[in-house]
Amino acid sequence: MKIFNSINEFCNSQLDIESFVPTMGNLHEGHLSLINTAKKNSKNICVSIYVNKNQFTNKKDFDSYPITLDEDIYKLEKAGVNYLLNPCKDDIENNSSPFDAKFEPKYLTNDLCGKYRKGHFLAVMDIVHRLFQIVNPKNIILGEKDYQQIFVIKELIEIYNYNIKIITSPTIREKGSGLALSSRNSLLTAEQKKMASEIYKALQLSAILYADNVPLDQIKDKIYEIFEQLPIEIEYFTFRDLKTLQQANDNDLIALIAGYLGNVRLIDNIIVKSKTNL
Ligand code: AMP
Repeated sequence: MKIFNSINEFCNSQLDIESFVPTMGNLHEGHLSLINTAKKNSKNICVSIYVNKNQFTNKKDFDSYPITLDEDIYKLEKAGVNYLLNPCKDDIENNSSPFDAKFEPKYLTNDLCGKYRKGHFLAVMDIVHRLFQIVNPKNIILGEKDYQQIFVIKELIEIYNYNIKIITSPTIREKGSGLALSSRNSLLTAEQKKMASEIYKALQLSAILYADNVPLDQIKDKIYEIFEQLPIEIEYFTFRDLKTLQQANDNDLIALIAGYLGNVRLIDNIIVKSKTNL
């Protein structure tokens, strides 16, 4: 694997990147599954590691974000990645144009996670726009765990007319507990990790209740009731249309949840098929 710390060196190499996997490092099996998806679809794979300070709405969250570059490089080499782009902030900012905020799709960036993390998705659009200019990939590989982010990047591609295909990859979970893998999980104690798995249990319950014809409002009430008894502070639990992320209707749905366990923000989702499509 060739490692690039300099954007100039990366651009001068004129690489023909087929699949691009942007990450913030501290790589786990979830990230590695994206690389596997990339390998199934393409040959020349570039992973980036860049912890984008601007997208953190909480300074403590940024300061405590786990950095494990040596281990990450080892994992990427083993996974057969061709290129790692590991640039610094100034280098990125000096070698790319920012996202023009006048294009911000506020209906999307101020919704769900965006409602609770002001400016987060605008910063995501900015960094991905910059990375697209530098990497110029044919595909971007994104995890379904960050479901809203997929829609945000879809908008970015439409706004700037990028010829880039989004390929999504399913959420990887801890065996047994079902807790969605996340770099932030390493900030949880063993006890908190056990508690965090209640999030996936609640999502599974919501899917079962939906299959049992329980109305969505009643399912929501039930889920909020469960978390009233637990030390997880829910920001939102809701159902949305799977294909548009707009209000839930009769099509396939997705249940999305976000909440805090201590200082750690956790998100997850589950796809809830429409009964007519089963
Ligand atoms: P991050 O490093 O958290 O910014 O994530 C980089 C990419 O990995 C994003 O596309 C995430 O959606 C994806 N990702 C993170 N966690 C998981 C997971 N548990 N399963 C699948 N993809 C994931």
